[in-house]
Amino acid sequence: MIVVLFGPPASGKGTQAKRIHERYGIAHLSTGDMLRAAIAQGSEIGKKAKALVDGGQLVPDDIVLGIIAERIEQPDCAKGFVLDGFPRTVEQAKGLDAMLGGKKRAVDHVILMEVDEAELIKRVENRAAEAKKKGEPVRPDDDPETFKKRLGVYKAQTAPILPLYEAQGKIRRVDGMKSIDEVTAQIEVVLSSGKQGKSVLSRWLTR
Ligand code: AMP
Repeated sequence: MIVVLFGPPASGKGTQAKRIHERYGIAHLSTGDMLRAAIAQGSEIGKKAKALVDGGQLVPDDIVLGIIAERIEQPDCAKGFVLDGFPRTVEQAKGLDAMLGGKKRAVDHVILMEVDEAELIKRVENRAAEAKKKGEPVRPDDDPETFKKRLGVYKAQTAPILPLYEAQGKIRRVDGMKSIDEVTAQIEVVLSSGKQGKSVLSRWLTR
């Protein structure tokens, strides 16, 4: 199963992707985490990405597509994976489709996490306040001005992917304003809909 978790920054993609990973045993691929790890290591990719990530801008498509192409070759991706924060441009979405098509695979579900902008801003302020309280470092891109820039990047560069997946009939909307557990429950309904459909049908046939 290949799942794309789609939504604006701070819509809860990371939290839900971890839960999908645990529940379905598929790999969790977060390009944001991979880029932050590359930055921390000071690798070539990290050096190229640092200023962009810190400033809330996107890293070039070829770099991110390269990271994903390499990552999905790992054995833990054979059963499937959940993509968190990728694709983020139409170019990346097309690149992903081409990459998977070459392996006779395809994205199964695109889960769109719908959250109001005011709520996103509130969440990020809370996230920064929590980190400060615990004495943990605050993500530079969670700074309020940079976060607003990330929202702008989402609208201008990421949201235009949606019509592509809409045309493929793959978008499943979830209400991301609900509690974490309620969002997880909505996602589970989506991801097990195939199985559920069958069991309802078999129950009906054996009535
Ligand atoms: P995230 O943790 O998903 O919010 O990503 C943090 C930052 O990493 C983004 O604001 C971008 O600078 C960079 N990034 C993550 N994923 C991508 C991607 N698919 N394409 C380009 N840049 C990305």
